[in-house]
Parts: sequence; C-alpha cells; structure tokens
Amino acid sequence: MLRWLLSRAAGDPRLAELAATSPLVRPLVDRFVAGDTLEDGLRAATELAAVGATLTLDHVGEYVTDEQDADAAAGAYRDLLARSAEEQLPAGISVKPTQLGLLLDRPGCKARVADLAARAAEADAHVTLDMEDHTVTEATVRLVEQAHADGATNVGCALQSALHRTPEDVRRLTRLGAGIRLCKGAYAEPAHVAWQRRVEVDRAYLEAARYLLREATYPRFATHDHRLVAAIKREAAVLGRARDSYEFQMLYGVRDDLQRTLVGDGYRLCVYVPYGTEWFPYVVRRLAERPANLAFFLRALTSG
Ligand code: FAD
Repeated sequence: MLRWLLSRAAGDPRLAELAATSPLVRPLVDRFVAGDTLEDGLRAATELAAVGATLTLDHVGEYVTDEQDADAAAGAYRDLLARSAEEQLPAGISVKPTQLGLLLDRPGCKARVADLAARAAEADAHVTLDMEDHTVTEATVRLVEQAHADGATNVGCALQSALHRTPEDVRRLTRLGAGIRLCKGAYAEPAHVAWQRRVEVDRAYLEAARYLLREATYPRFATHDHRLVAAIKREAAVLGRARDSYEFQMLYGVRDDLQRTLVGDGYRLCVYVPYGTEWFPYVVRRLAERPANLAFFLRALTSG
C-alpha cells in the first residue's frame, strides 16, 4: 500500500515542485543524487573510481511527454559519454527508455538508443536500459534485441525478480548474449504480474542469479541485500567462476560500508551514480525502499 501511494506521488509534478523548493529536503536528495549537473556526476564518479569501483551514470529523468525532451535527454547522455571518455572514467550509462521517448514514438526511441550505443562503443562503455514499470517491460526487452540485431552488443537491460515473466526474460537475453542487470524491482506492481511478498521476490532473485552464474558471460547483480550478496559469492565460488567474471552493482549513497568491503575483498563493484535536476521520482523510489527514509522526507516536506 505504501509503495503504491509512493508510486503515485513519484509522478505528481506538484509534489516534485514542492520538494524542489524545500531546502529541508535537500540533504536527503544529496544522499542519493550526486548533484544537479554533469560536473557533479563526474566528480562523484571520479571519487568512486579512485577507490576501485566502476560506474554507471544516470542523467535522471523519465516518462517524457514530448520529442524535444527526449532529444534533450539523448543530448545530455551524449555530453556525458564525451566527458566521461575525456576523463577516462571506467563508466557506462544507465538510461530509461521512457526518457528517450519510448511512449511517444518507438522508432525514435530506438534511433536514440542506437546513437548512444554507437558513441558508448567508441569508449568501450556499456549501455544499460533501466527497467521501468511492467507496462514497458516487453518494449524494453525488444529494444535490447533490436540493438543486438543491429550489431550494438554493448546494450543490455535491467530485469526485475519481482516480475513473474523474468525467468523467461533472463533466458531470452542470456541466449542473445546481452548484459543483464538483475535487480528486485523498484515499482509497485499488481499481483497478476508480480510477486507481492519479499520472500518470494528474494527467492526469485536467487534462482535467476544461479541461472546467470551458470549460463551468462558477465552477469551484473544489483542488490544491497547482504544475504543475497553472500549467496552469490558462495555460488560463484562453487561454480569456480573468477571474481572478475561478474559484478555487484549498488546505488550511490546506499550501503557504502558493503560497497567498501566488496572492493576491499577483491570483488567487482559498479556504482550507479544519478545526477540531474529531475530527481524527484528517483528519490521517491529510494524512499519507498526504506520507510525510515520516508519519515524524514515527509517531516522535511511539511515543515519546508
Ligand atoms: P532490499 O532488501 O530492499 O534492501 C537490502 C538492504 O539495503 C536494506 O536492508 C537497507 O540496508 C539497504 N537499502 C536498500 N535500499 C535502500 C534505500 N533506498 N535507502 C537506504 N538503504 C537501502 N529497480 C528497477 O525497478 N529498475 C532498475 O533498472 C533498477 N536499477 C537498479 C540499479 C542498481 C545498481 C541497483 C542497486 C538497484 C536498481 N534498482 C532498479 C532498484 C532495485 O530494484 C531495488 O528496488 C533496490 O535495490 C532495493 O532492493 P535491494 O536488492 O537492495 O534489497
């Protein structure tokens, strides 16, 4: 219920404006978002690279409602790729298909993905399509398939263990050789498409992770759940997988302690670094993941 309410709040422009103008909300935003500008994102990325992490950068934004905004988002990612290459950062990009116009014009969105993939390939960088709500899952998986059909093998996507369809998507994209980021899923989804209980989502995660460890070339495990992290390490060791043949991924500002431990122990860690001004829905999803964050946010919003 809380997740559902928050998912409604995430799309409310009035709340976004209220949050943007409340100075008291800023400390919470700063925890999860590197800053408003590309330079802020690059600064955070440089610091993380210095301690041994790789990066995937997200110029925040989603569900754009006109072509101009989709073009502007693609332009922001072009600038990001150029600057990241200049700085020689070990960084890829994470981009939301609806930010590139998926809901407006699919061929246009596909062309933007192709352009970004080609530019990323020049810097040997990976492009991950973030997975959004279940109504765009099939379209997102198809974008990855189309990119591969056109030779852009550096394009992959996130898959959410919460969704019933995910085991099939995991097999489908593994057969293709596409990079998969396995996550639990940050969207409030209905029972006819998604597991509702944490224990079911976690069980599905572990099953998909086991499949990926057996079958995929380079799986990416996006979770801060220390039990899953431990299970994946154990399973990988049993299968004799080298530590550089898979990676963990975590979000900027979440479980920094676990991030440091993984790097210190010689595991690969990729940190997801969001930046930009359209941070409201991203931050609301982070709040939904942890009610303790939410209480702080609501206090700040109502007294701001
Ligand atoms: P949980 O059981 O939720 O959390 C485990 C522990 O991590 C918690 O006990 C807490 O200590 C800590 N923690 C987790 N979240 C927070 C938080 N917000 N604030 C503070 N502490 C926290 N979801 C999508 O739907 N699509 C995507 O494309 C996508 N990409 C992602 C990329 C990366 C790199 C990561 C790490 C996550 C991504 N997610 C995405 C979000 C993901 O689906 C989960 O919602 C999120 O990671 C929380 O699940 P968890 O696996 O960390 O486990």
